[in-house]
Amino acid sequence: MVDIVKCNKCGGVINEASDVALAKRIPCPSCGSTSRLFEKSLIIKVGIVTSNKMKGKHANEKKPFIEEFSGKDLFRKTGQLMDKIRVIDRGNDLYQEIVTEPRTGIVIRSCIEPLSKHTEHGSAKKP
Ligand SMILES: [Zn+2]
Repeated sequence: MVDIVKCNKCGGVINEASDVALAKRIPCPSCGSTSRLFEKSLIIKVGIVTSNKMKGKHANEKKPFIEEFSGKDLFRKTGQLMDKIRVIDRGNDLYQEIVTEPRTGIVIRSCIEPLSKHTEHGSAKKP
């Protein structure tokens, strides 16, 4: 798993590890800023082509604290197959869904919201 490191100023992706010390950070190639925005590897995995599901569970709990789906999903608006990543993070009360156009990598849908407020799909269950 790879962390996505982005420039906090212009949003450009920076090819740098997320644990690099502040003093050793390279300036953003686009704007020169060393301010960073870190995105967890669980949120974005651009380039995955096969569907896969992942569940993380603590031994003493019934519900998984994290569920992840990534793979192809039919985007109704265009009828195209898109790369979709969905993360249900119960531990952090987060629902994340990112749909990208596979050829260009353009994000066409990005949804991050508290899991407790997410009711759009059947996946959100009341406790
Ligand atoms: Zn920048």
